Amino acid sequence: MKFHIVTIFPDFFRGPFEHGVIQKAREAGLIEIQVHDLRTWTYDRHRTVDDRPFGGGEGMLLKAAPIFEAVEALRPKRSEGVKVILLSAQGKKFDQAKAREFSQLEELLLICGRYEGVDERVAEHLAEEELSIGDYVLSGGELAAAVVVDAVARLKAGVLGNENSIVDESFSEEGLLDWPHYTRPAEFRGWKVPEVLIGGNHEEIRKWRRSAAREKTQRQRPDLLEGLRK
Ligand code: SAM
Repeated sequence: MKFHIVTIFPDFFRGPFEHGVIQKAREAGLIEIQVHDLRTWTYDRHRTVDDRPFGGGEGMLLKAAPIFEAVEALRPKRSEGVKVILLSAQGKKFDQAKAREFSQLEELLLICGRYEGVDERVAEHLAEEELSIGDYVLSGGELAAAVVVDAVARLKAGVLGNENSIVDESFSEEGLLDWPHYTRPAEFRGWKVPEVLIGGNHEEIRKWRRSAAREKTQRQRPDLLEGLRK
């Protein structure tokens, strides 16, 4: 799968994709991440990507023209397997279901906003979806793009060493949070690991994990259980 990221800060991505499973997946050719400098699609001496908002008000906006040209160069025609996403605090919430959906695509093109945001015509006429990673305002779309790439890439076959990791984790098909995990030592500062986990009875362990996952979901995210009841 190929990811394209359009940004005014290409160097931002030197860190996020150079560690762990994402780095390994890139080296193995399972995913490809291309970071594009939006200024490539500017033609003036100052390589201008922003301008003042019509109607006045604070700050600057990323202009529509370089973004349209970038997307048209990277994805010459619309296709089922390629999606264009605008990262935006005003977008629909990105979640694990969306990550699963995107992991089926051939290519994902992510547009990172900056300043006060992006000329609205990008959301209206270019991006297929406007997505937010949470109800808070970031200073740019780059962190959000890195979050989306990471969440989608790890769902691609072969990226994680153990394919079961994505079956039994938070927000998987069952819709619960993951169960609590413990490692050695069995007792740490007087806190003991639940007895059942060291007993070796796999059926008992399976039952404990199911109920512990439900309990933790109830405690931390009751809204997820509400969603399951509907
Ligand atoms: N004026 C905008 C608003 O109030 O919704 C905020 C613009 S923000 C300072 C600049 C850029 O950061 C946005 O264009 C977007 O690309 C990105 N951004 C900010 N918050 C985000 C979020 N929660 N999810 C995804 N992208 C976000």
